[in-house]
Amino acid sequence: MIIDGKIEAKVLRDEIKKEISLIKDKMNKIPKLSVILIGNYAPSEIYVRNKIKMSKEVGISSNVIRYPEEVPETEILKKIEELNNDSNVSGILVQLPLPKNINKEKVINLISPLKDVDGFHPINVGKLASGFKAISPCTPLGCLLLIKKVEKNLLGKHAVIVGRSNLNGKPMAQLLLKENCTVTIAHSKTKNLKDECVKADILIVAVGVPNLVKKDWVKNNSIVIDVGINKLEDKLVGDVKFDDVKDKVKAITPVPGGVGPMTIACLLKNTLECFKARLT
Ligand code: NAP
Repeated sequence: MIIDGKIEAKVLRDEIKKEISLIKDKMNKIPKLSVILIGNYAPSEIYVRNKIKMSKEVGISSNVIRYPEEVPETEILKKIEELNNDSNVSGILVQLPLPKNINKEKVINLISPLKDVDGFHPINVGKLASGFKAISPCTPLGCLLLIKKVEKNLLGKHAVIVGRSNLNGKPMAQLLLKENCTVTIAHSKTKNLKDECVKADILIVAVGVPNLVKKDWVKNNSIVIDVGINKLEDKLVGDVKFDDVKDKVKAITPVPGGVGPMTIACLLKNTLECFKARLT
């Protein structure tokens, strides 16, 4: 089975759209997402454009606040405070990466945890790690939703995550622990990586090394989620050698068209959750 992230993301967006429409009919209110975009980094421009387009599609109002690369950090912090205090704003997203002169930690820490649609604020990170209800980072949340399309009950499954970033690997581990998986996190210092991967009922690869995982690295009938996005000879490829692996496993996500579309759909989901939490 090839997991079609485009279709699953559309299903999720349709659910979000329906819920927003019901709330709008009842309360005449809609969510609003404010995006801060600094500099002219081309991939960020594309990500932000897609996020805004998809927000509109589901009925989330949005705005992009743009700054030149050399904007002083104080100006960004002031804007975040302003958005935190604006009752019309449900979610705040500061597009990463940031220019060198702006401290990422300061920025993330200042965004209200109640409007933190990326799930990066330490309060949300801590809640997730404690097993409480939390806004979860969009990519791992999207991965979990895709896994659950294949297998509803993950209790006792052995999940192996390759990559331990704050963005992907670590929150992925917390989400899978909450689902009662047995979780192994591997990284660049892991010995015998192949031997770890081959034990996985669920293998999530979030590394950024093209075609790292090959056929003899995966278990028969496992679920493989490829988070990696790599440019190889002008083509986008994942961290898993897709053609090699696809016939051996129960389900696999392609790159592109797997995890990527779910990431944006989960951003919309998080924006709706933040909006609903502040409705009363
Ligand atoms: P990151 O912060 O660079 O982390 C990469 C992780 O992979 C680190 O934990 C690193 O280990 C580990 N690693 C690197 N080389 C390895 C190797 N040879 N063997 C085993 N582990 C290795 O990257 P990230 O932000 O998590 O992103 C990972 C990939 O996902 C990238 O390709 C990125 O473009 C993609 N991505 C996709 C989406 C999406 O929506 N589909 C979203 C975000 C990111 P150490 O900790 O030991 O250094």
